[in-house]
Amino acid sequence: MKITVVGTGYVGLVTGTCFAETGNDVVCVDIDVNKVNKLSNGQITIYEPGLEKLFERNLKEGRLHFTTSLAEGAKHGEVIFLALPTPPGEDGSADLSYILRVADDLGKIIDDYKVIIDKSTVPVGTAELVQAAIAKHTTQPFDVVSNPEFLREGVAVDDFMKPDRVVIGTRSERARKVMGELFAPFVRQGNPILFMDEKSAELTKYAANSFLATKISFMNEIAILCEKLGADVDMVRRGVGSDDRIGKRFLFPGIGYGGSCFPKDVQALVKSSEDANYNFKILNAVMDVNERQKLFLMPKISAWFDNDLKGKHFALWGLAFKPNTDDIREAPALYMIDALVEAGATVAVFDPEAMANVKRLIGDKVTYAANQYECLTNADALVIATEWSVFRTPDFEKIGNSLNNKLIFDGRNLFDVSRMEELGYHYESVGRAAAK
Ligand code: NAD
Repeated sequence: MKITVVGTGYVGLVTGTCFAETGNDVVCVDIDVNKVNKLSNGQITIYEPGLEKLFERNLKEGRLHFTTSLAEGAKHGEVIFLALPTPPGEDGSADLSYILRVADDLGKIIDDYKVIIDKSTVPVGTAELVQAAIAKHTTQPFDVVSNPEFLREGVAVDDFMKPDRVVIGTRSERARKVMGELFAPFVRQGNPILFMDEKSAELTKYAANSFLATKISFMNEIAILCEKLGADVDMVRRGVGSDDRIGKRFLFPGIGYGGSCFPKDVQALVKSSEDANYNFKILNAVMDVNERQKLFLMPKISAWFDNDLKGKHFALWGLAFKPNTDDIREAPALYMIDALVEAGATVAVFDPEAMANVKRLIGDKVTYAANQYECLTNADALVIATEWSVFRTPDFEKIGNSLNNKLIFDGRNLFDVSRMEELGYHYESVGRAAAK
């Protein structure tokens, strides 16, 4: 099938590459000239495990092309995916200007039947707005479909190739047939393609992300209670997660969720609820808890240093909002850095993939270490903000020898408390007793 993907970021590049991998002829469009040039020259623009190999193969075999021309893209694809940004607007609602601008332009360009697909996360009613924006300029037949994306950064290729489910919102028989054919190779193991109306599909995405964010904030509150009452959140988590109705995943406490999706999607659903005259109480609490949680370690750090961090130096491991990505959007580490620097401390950082993005964003606010151990030199304590695998079994002797104090504040509960006690560390984490 001839496919066009408009927007070649995390979702668009994975979508385009994976469709090419299943034999489709794909053109990816982006307004970022630099990005398009790099991709056309075989240089991948994001870090995503497994993507580079597929990208190189499909580029070489001529099934994957990149352009800045929407007209070229629109001419090429019988299906056109919109994988455009939907950042939060000032009032918290999703900013639809990227989507509607492209829809408007497509209306002026299309000259044949097209299936135009919202892959971006968009509020209920957006398919209708896109339909209207296109119809304003054309009498050509077309259908607008809602096909929210559930991939997770870090495992995006696997998620795309073997999705738990594919949600397709359309009431058009013609579009349904095209979408069914397109996604059939991805659900051969028997996972469902769920056809529904456009609004239900749009809401499904927000409901899924908001539910996951709720699970995280819920466990973060349980962790706080554990510390206050003397329980151990690791034990509670296991006890709770063994119940099939609850499940083991997304129950890990920490210093809050970040990324480009959960924060903005929860906020957008709250705003949609307000617009519908409904106060979504749970989600307001989920957001409050997450805001507080990002700085959960700060009172512990301050208390250790007698509330005076001036002149102290910290090593910080982990910058990406989660492991296996270079994405730093809304990363809790950035909030930690701000708080430490504001309190008068200096910070050296290390992350396996996200250093360049952080450097672009905050420049010399921190120093950048070549590896996780160099980062520790002359530091008064180590702070951990992201659970990269490479941090899980470090050389504790080396850490102890490099740090000024055997002191670790762990926002991701990577280590066993009693082991840290044996090793002679003062170790503080989330929802567990401190090793002293
Ligand atoms: P992104 O910012 O990584 O990529 C968006 C791309 O669109 C950028 O490359 C940008 O240059 C390009 N763009 C902007 N305006 C354009 C235009 N007029 N024409 C062509 N290209 C244009 O964003 P993303 O993370 O890929 O997210 C895209 C959408 O998918 C969002 O709605 C997001 O909520 C949703 N989503 C993201 C994820 C994720 O993990 N990142 C997962 C599921 C859904």
